[in-house]
Amino acid sequence: MQFNKSVELLERSRKVLAGGVSSDVRKAELPHPLFYAYGRGCRLWDVDGNEFIDYTLGQGPLLLGHQPETVLDAVGKQLQRGLIYAAQHQPELELAELLTKVIPCAERVRFNSTGSEAVITALRVARAYRNRTKVVKFEGQWHGWYDSVFVSTSPPLDKSGLGHAPAPVLTSRGQVPNAADNLIVLPWNDMELLRSVFASRGAEIAAVITEPIMCNSGSIMPANGFLQGLRDLCTQNETALIFDEVITGFRLALGGAQELFGVTPDLATFAKGIASGFTLSAVAGKAEFMDLISSGEVTHAGTYNSNPVAIAAGLATVEYLRNNQPVVYPHLNQMGERLRLGISSRLKAAGIPSIVGGIGPVVQVSFTKRTEHRNYRDWAERDSLAYQKLVAKLVNHGVRTISRGTWYVSNAHSESDIDQTLAHFSAALNS
Ligand code: PMP
Repeated sequence: MQFNKSVELLERSRKVLAGGVSSDVRKAELPHPLFYAYGRGCRLWDVDGNEFIDYTLGQGPLLLGHQPETVLDAVGKQLQRGLIYAAQHQPELELAELLTKVIPCAERVRFNSTGSEAVITALRVARAYRNRTKVVKFEGQWHGWYDSVFVSTSPPLDKSGLGHAPAPVLTSRGQVPNAADNLIVLPWNDMELLRSVFASRGAEIAAVITEPIMCNSGSIMPANGFLQGLRDLCTQNETALIFDEVITGFRLALGGAQELFGVTPDLATFAKGIASGFTLSAVAGKAEFMDLISSGEVTHAGTYNSNPVAIAAGLATVEYLRNNQPVVYPHLNQMGERLRLGISSRLKAAGIPSIVGGIGPVVQVSFTKRTEHRNYRDWAERDSLAYQKLVAKLVNHGVRTISRGTWYVSNAHSESDIDQTLAHFSAALNS
């Protein structure tokens, strides 16, 4: 494949956009950031005319694929009615009502534009609930890029202390130096350690925030009983349990990971997956918590919150998922499993030690000699350079994936798309 136009545009971009991109995550694209011109279904075309089967899905939001018709229709209609009112509108109410029906913890909802904002909202509510400040955050989890949680997201192990007592590591220069002071960073999946931390500091802990599956670090699954253990511990200590469902929401089940695992948090955040790529996020939670916003004790604001175009996209997406629930979720799971099995058997045949995991439409490939991952440090042992070489080769074979090893499957991927992908995968492995 030739990327001449992308290279030319990237050179121009680097003169005016810091680093040539608008989100640092995009710098990780291999072989280098590409410029895209068109997306449809599960396919994407770049400015050089190269075609890709897309497993990046805009870093997750395109659960229904590129340009889902139902969403385009709803957005087109809303565009005729206005772009922003900074006031109430009926579809916002309808989407809130729908979310309270499908998400177990959702008795009340508020909308934001991004996952990061939804997380900040949830943390503020949780801290107000019992007037506490400390928050338990797990090493290797990403809850957005705002100062107070942008800590130990993928810390270098030589800077992060002992496994059972991780030193909090700020992710970026320029964060206030005390950004981590209100966090307690712990390894995931260690219930015994959590119990001992709560035994000594439970009365200080406002919240435990966790991705229900560690989608940002190896798509590591919760150990049996871990999420329920968190639930019990939080209830006993009057600590808010927050599920960050920015990735898992609507993807693993209509009601998110909380529905799938049968564990209901106090608060949960949603973004990717809710509005097919439009900027919409939600924080949902039990009335007891969210009514701190209702009463005005906790402030939540934002000019773009629930902007009508994003809400139209959100309502169309969630209604589509609900109306087609018996078809969409089995399809997502089957396509994910087909891809998982296909990749796994090819890596085995090639003699490459690896874990091919994840769940449903989140497929995760890690090159490692380990047989399981329980926390970030296990996953950090993987051979990420060797995997990235494969990702770069896959690009040349028309398959776009995320360099950390995550593959998102959408409702637009068919069996033949997966099979074609696997043929490309074999070719890339052998090249
Ligand atoms: N939480 C999780 C679990 C995420 O994966 C992300 C984004 N990768 C965020 C929060 C932040 O969302 P956004 O990028 O929309 O601010």
